[in-house]
Amino acid sequence: MQIVFIGPPGVGKGTQANMLVDKYGVLKISTGDLLRDAIKAGSPLGNQAKGYMERGELVPDELVLGLVQEKVSIPQSNLKTFIFDGFPRNIQQAIELDKIMLNIHSKINLVIDFTMDEEDRISRLSGRRMCPKCQRTYHIKFSKPKVDNLCDICSVQLVQRSDDNESVIRQRSAVYWEHTRPLLEYYKKQEILKSIDASQPIDKVFISLENLIAPLLGA
Ligand code: AMP
Repeated sequence: MQIVFIGPPGVGKGTQANMLVDKYGVLKISTGDLLRDAIKAGSPLGNQAKGYMERGELVPDELVLGLVQEKVSIPQSNLKTFIFDGFPRNIQQAIELDKIMLNIHSKINLVIDFTMDEEDRISRLSGRRMCPKCQRTYHIKFSKPKVDNLCDICSVQLVQRSDDNESVIRQRSAVYWEHTRPLLEYYKKQEILKSIDASQPIDKVFISLENLIAPLLGA
Protein backbone atom coordinates (compact mmCIF):
# COMPACT_ATOMS: atom_id res chain seq x y z
CA MET A 1 0.00 0.00 0.00
CA GLN A 2 1.70 3.21 -1.17
CA ILE A 3 0.17 6.64 -0.71
CA VAL A 4 1.06 10.04 -2.14
CA PHE A 5 0.05 13.30 -0.44
CA ILE A 6 -0.32 16.29 -2.76
CA GLY A 7 -1.18 19.84 -1.81
CA PRO A 8 0.10 23.39 -1.82
CA PRO A 9 2.36 24.60 1.00
CA GLY A 10 0.63 25.11 4.34
CA VAL A 11 -2.22 22.73 3.73
CA GLY A 12 -1.17 20.55 6.69
CA LYS A 13 -0.23 17.36 4.87
CA GLY A 14 2.98 16.88 6.90
CA THR A 15 0.99 17.04 10.15
CA GLN A 16 -1.49 14.49 8.82
CA ALA A 17 1.34 12.22 7.64
CA ASN A 18 2.88 12.34 11.13
CA MET A 19 -0.47 11.41 12.68
CA LEU A 20 -0.66 8.37 10.38
CA VAL A 21 2.91 7.41 11.32
CA ASP A 22 2.01 7.59 15.03
CA LYS A 23 -1.23 5.65 14.71
CA TYR A 24 -0.49 3.07 12.02
CA GLY A 25 3.31 2.78 12.04
CA VAL A 26 3.54 3.63 8.34
CA LEU A 27 6.75 5.19 6.99
CA LYS A 28 6.75 8.82 5.90
CA ILE A 29 9.06 9.90 3.11
CA SER A 30 9.15 13.69 3.04
CA THR A 31 11.63 15.00 0.49
CA GLY A 32 11.52 18.42 2.22
CA ASP A 33 12.64 16.78 5.50
CA LEU A 34 15.33 14.76 3.71
CA LEU A 35 16.67 17.89 1.99
CA ARG A 36 16.69 19.86 5.27
CA ASP A 37 18.59 16.95 6.90
CA ALA A 38 21.14 17.06 4.06
CA ILE A 39 21.58 20.82 4.55
CA LYS A 40 22.01 20.38 8.30
CA ALA A 41 24.61 17.65 7.70
CA GLY A 42 26.45 19.98 5.30
CA SER A 43 26.55 17.27 2.62
CA PRO A 44 27.36 18.20 -1.02
CA LEU A 45 23.72 17.46 -1.92
CA GLY A 46 22.54 19.74 0.88
CA ASN A 47 24.81 22.53 -0.31
CA GLN A 48 23.46 22.18 -3.85
CA ALA A 49 19.83 22.18 -2.66
CA LYS A 50 20.04 25.09 -0.19
CA GLY A 51 19.69 28.04 -2.59
CA TYR A 52 16.70 26.52 -4.42
CA MET A 53 14.91 25.94 -1.12
CA GLU A 54 15.62 29.42 0.22
CA ARG A 55 14.15 30.89 -2.97
CA GLY A 56 11.10 28.59 -2.83
CA GLU A 57 12.03 26.87 -6.11
CA LEU A 58 12.07 23.15 -6.85
CA VAL A 59 15.36 21.38 -6.22
CA PRO A 60 16.56 19.63 -9.42
CA ASP A 61 14.92 16.23 -9.96
CA GLU A 62 18.15 14.22 -9.97
CA LEU A 63 19.01 15.34 -6.41
CA VAL A 64 15.55 14.57 -5.04
CA LEU A 65 15.21 11.25 -6.86
CA GLY A 66 18.50 9.99 -5.41
CA LEU A 67 17.18 10.65 -1.90
CA VAL A 68 13.90 8.84 -2.53
CA GLN A 69 15.64 5.90 -4.19
CA GLU A 70 17.88 5.50 -1.17
CA LYS A 71 14.93 5.52 1.27
CA VAL A 72 12.91 3.01 -0.71
CA SER A 73 15.82 0.61 -1.27
CA ILE A 74 15.45 -1.10 2.07
CA PRO A 75 14.92 -4.88 2.22
CA GLN A 76 11.30 -5.90 1.67
CA SER A 77 10.25 -2.31 1.09
CA ASN A 78 7.42 -3.63 -1.09
CA LEU A 79 5.78 -4.91 2.11
CA LYS A 80 5.83 -1.51 3.81
CA THR A 81 3.35 1.31 3.53
CA PHE A 82 5.01 4.55 2.51
CA ILE A 83 3.42 7.97 2.70
CA PHE A 84 5.14 10.19 0.15
CA ASP A 85 4.78 13.74 1.50
CA GLY A 86 5.76 16.49 -0.94
CA PHE A 87 6.98 14.04 -3.56
CA PRO A 88 6.42 13.87 -6.50
CA ARG A 89 6.30 17.60 -7.22
CA ASN A 90 6.17 17.41 -11.04
CA ILE A 91 5.23 14.98 -13.81
CA GLN A 92 8.80 13.80 -14.38
CA GLN A 93 9.14 12.88 -10.70
CA ALA A 94 5.79 11.02 -10.87
CA ILE A 95 7.00 8.98 -13.84
CA GLU A 96 10.25 8.18 -12.00
CA LEU A 97 8.30 7.23 -8.85
CA ASP A 98 6.26 4.74 -10.88
CA LYS A 99 9.55 3.17 -12.05
CA ILE A 100 10.93 3.06 -8.49
CA MET A 101 7.73 1.32 -7.38
CA LEU A 102 7.95 -1.17 -10.23
CA ASN A 103 11.47 -2.06 -9.13
CA ILE A 104 10.24 -3.03 -5.68
CA HIS A 105 7.22 -4.87 -7.17
CA SER A 106 4.81 -2.30 -5.79
CA LYS A 107 2.75 0.64 -7.03
CA ILE A 108 1.03 3.82 -5.88
CA ASN A 109 -2.45 2.82 -4.69
CA LEU A 110 -3.85 6.13 -3.49
CA VAL A 111 -3.14 9.82 -4.07
CA ILE A 112 -4.72 12.36 -1.73
CA ASP A 113 -5.17 15.95 -2.81
CA PHE A 114 -5.40 18.29 0.21
CA THR A 115 -7.28 21.50 -0.60
CA MET A 116 -7.46 24.84 1.21
CA ASP A 117 -8.01 28.49 0.37
CA GLU A 118 -4.73 30.36 -0.42
CA GLU A 119 -5.05 33.15 2.18
CA ASP A 120 -5.88 30.60 4.94
CA ARG A 121 -2.79 28.64 4.01
CA ILE A 122 -0.57 31.68 4.14
CA SER A 123 -1.83 32.72 7.56
CA ARG A 124 -1.45 29.13 8.82
CA LEU A 125 2.13 28.95 7.57
CA SER A 126 3.13 32.13 9.36
CA GLY A 127 2.12 30.44 12.67
CA ARG A 128 3.95 27.21 11.89
CA ARG A 129 6.88 26.17 14.07
CA MET A 130 9.24 23.24 13.54
CA CYS A 131 11.46 21.13 15.77
CA PRO A 132 14.98 21.57 14.34
CA LYS A 133 15.86 18.05 15.52
CA CYS A 134 13.00 15.76 14.39
CA GLN A 135 11.29 18.25 11.99
CA ARG A 136 7.87 17.67 13.58
CA THR A 137 5.66 20.68 12.95
CA TYR A 138 3.39 22.59 15.32
CA HIS A 139 1.20 25.66 15.06
CA ILE A 140 1.07 28.48 17.60
CA LYS A 141 -2.75 28.34 17.53
CA PHE A 142 -4.02 25.13 15.93
CA SER A 143 -1.49 22.50 16.97
CA LYS A 144 0.32 23.70 20.08
CA PRO A 145 3.09 21.68 21.73
CA LYS A 146 2.34 20.39 25.25
CA VAL A 147 4.95 22.76 26.73
CA ASP A 148 5.17 26.25 25.24
CA ASN A 149 7.58 26.37 22.26
CA LEU A 150 9.19 22.96 23.00
CA CYS A 151 8.98 19.84 20.84
CA ASP A 152 6.81 17.16 22.51
CA ILE A 153 9.27 14.45 21.48
CA CYS A 154 12.72 16.08 21.70
CA SER A 155 12.09 18.93 24.21
CA VAL A 156 14.08 21.18 21.88
CA GLN A 157 13.12 24.85 21.26
CA LEU A 158 10.91 25.17 18.18
CA VAL A 159 11.99 27.42 15.29
CA GLN A 160 10.34 29.03 12.28
CA ARG A 161 11.39 27.59 8.90
CA SER A 162 13.42 30.10 6.92
CA ASP A 163 11.17 29.58 3.86
CA ASP A 164 7.99 30.26 5.89
CA ASN A 165 8.00 33.99 5.17
CA GLU A 166 5.33 35.55 3.00
CA SER A 167 7.31 36.25 -0.18
CA VAL A 168 8.86 32.75 -0.28
CA ILE A 169 5.49 31.18 0.59
CA ARG A 170 3.92 32.96 -2.40
CA GLN A 171 6.75 31.72 -4.63
CA ARG A 172 6.27 28.14 -3.34
CA SER A 173 2.53 28.43 -4.07
CA ALA A 174 3.24 29.64 -7.61
CA VAL A 175 5.60 26.68 -8.15
CA TYR A 176 2.86 24.37 -6.87
CA TRP A 177 0.31 25.69 -9.39
CA GLU A 178 2.74 25.51 -12.30
CA HIS A 179 4.55 22.22 -11.69
CA THR A 180 2.67 20.14 -9.10
CA ARG A 181 -0.97 20.82 -9.91
CA PRO A 182 -0.78 18.96 -13.28
CA LEU A 183 -0.15 15.78 -11.27
CA LEU A 184 -3.82 15.71 -10.34
CA GLU A 185 -4.72 14.97 -13.95
CA TYR A 186 -1.94 12.34 -14.13
CA TYR A 187 -3.36 10.47 -11.12
CA LYS A 188 -7.00 11.10 -12.01
CA LYS A 189 -6.45 9.18 -15.23
CA GLN A 190 -5.16 6.26 -13.14
CA GLU A 191 -8.34 6.49 -11.01
CA ILE A 192 -6.41 6.64 -7.73
CA LEU A 193 -7.03 10.31 -6.87
CA LYS A 194 -9.11 11.36 -3.83
CA SER A 195 -9.57 14.80 -2.34
CA ILE A 196 -9.81 16.07 1.25
CA ASP A 197 -11.01 19.47 2.46
CA ALA A 198 -8.02 20.45 4.60
CA SER A 199 -9.63 23.65 5.90
CA GLN A 200 -11.47 21.63 8.58
CA PRO A 201 -9.92 21.34 12.07
CA ILE A 202 -6.90 18.98 12.18
CA ASP A 203 -8.78 16.14 13.94
CA LYS A 204 -11.62 16.30 11.41
CA VAL A 205 -9.17 16.18 8.51
CA PHE A 206 -7.60 13.12 10.12
CA ILE A 207 -10.98 11.39 10.34
CA SER A 208 -11.58 12.06 6.63
CA LEU A 209 -8.11 10.68 5.92
CA GLU A 210 -8.68 7.56 8.00
CA ASN A 211 -11.97 6.95 6.21
CA LEU A 212 -10.03 6.83 2.95
CA ILE A 213 -7.02 4.91 4.16
CA ALA A 214 -8.02 2.60 7.00
CA PRO A 215 -9.96 0.12 4.82
CA LEU A 216 -6.88 -0.21 2.59
CA LEU A 217 -4.61 -0.70 5.61
CA GLY A 218 -6.89 -3.44 6.86
CA ALA A 219 -7.52 -1.44 10.05
P1 AMP B 1 8.47 21.02 1.87
O1 AMP B 1 9.09 20.72 3.19
O2 AMP B 1 7.79 19.84 1.25
O3 AMP B 1 7.58 22.23 1.93
O4 AMP B 1 9.67 21.40 0.87
C1 AMP B 1 10.52 22.51 1.14
C2 AMP B 1 11.34 22.82 -0.09
O5 AMP B 1 12.16 21.70 -0.43
C3 AMP B 1 10.54 23.11 -1.36
O6 AMP B 1 10.11 24.46 -1.44
C4 AMP B 1 11.57 22.75 -2.44
O7 AMP B 1 12.54 23.78 -2.57
C5 AMP B 1 12.26 21.54 -1.83
N1 AMP B 1 11.60 20.26 -2.20
C6 AMP B 1 10.94 19.41 -1.37
N2 AMP B 1 10.47 18.35 -2.04
C7 AMP B 1 10.84 18.52 -3.34
C8 AMP B 1 10.64 17.77 -4.52
N3 AMP B 1 9.95 16.61 -4.53
N4 AMP B 1 11.18 18.25 -5.68
C9 AMP B 1 11.88 19.41 -5.71
N5 AMP B 1 12.08 20.18 -4.62
C10 AMP B 1 11.58 19.74 -3.44
